[in-house]
Amino acid sequence: MTISLIVAVVIIAALLYSYAKRKKQIQNYQLPVKTRDLLAAHVPFYNDLDSRGKQQFEDRIKDFLATTNVRGVDVAVEDLDRILIAAGAIMLIFSFPDWKYNNISEILLYKDSFSTDFSTDGIDRNVLGMVGDGAMHRQMILSKPSLRASFKNPVDGQNTIIHEFAHLIDKADGAVDGVPEYLLSHPQVRPWIEMVHEQISRMKRGRSDINMYGATNDAEFFAVVAEAFFEQPEKMKSRHPELYALLDEMFHPVK
Ligand SMILES: [Zn+2]
Repeated sequence: MTISLIVAVVIIAALLYSYAKRKKQIQNYQLPVKTRDLLAAHVPFYNDLDSRGKQQFEDRIKDFLATTNVRGVDVAVEDLDRILIAAGAIMLIFSFPDWKYNNISEILLYKDSFSTDFSTDGIDRNVLGMVGDGAMHRQMILSKPSLRASFKNPVDGQNTIIHEFAHLIDKADGAVDGVPEYLLSHPQVRPWIEMVHEQISRMKRGRSDINMYGATNDAEFFAVVAEAFFEQPEKMKSRHPELYALLDEMFHPVK
């Protein structure tokens, strides 16, 4: 047996082992007993699904939580926290039955928002959530009050979980640049970039009702409008029909 063949066999064995381990992890994981009640009480997206959709949603949050650790930093992690994080994450990719977040392993839950001197690399370092980068590249930080507030009013257009997971989807193609390539077909890329720049320019001239944080840069624009798209679709459809249509094609592509 040549060295390269031995290396190939070892790599394949390691991949099979990690696949089997992940599968077993998901099979063995039990969702909290009150999951359905918690989803029904806090997540309108779940309530709007039919019974088959609800089951699929539950299966996907189970899959997510089985492979993503949620750890409290000086704060208790309750079942509701885990369920809300998973629900926000899955809402964004629910139209893609085979999608999983392969670029996250752990979520750190902080008891408050972070200070500006937070010393780790990442996006949104001084606000309510952060997608880790560098040494923290498979981590996300969320503030517990912000997590709870995101679902306390699920129709105000602001949701930190949707925001941070939108960044994670954007990051999956290698760059957090506001161009989430997995959501865009090739012909959609240019119209999307033009739309982003046009909207940001309008915001900077004070002629838009989109949350001004979205004018920070293209990446923040995508995360901010993802929040509005999921929480206030009707409002976005009437006030920004072209932007709404593009986001609808991205998040709900025709099968
Ligand atoms: Zn952001």
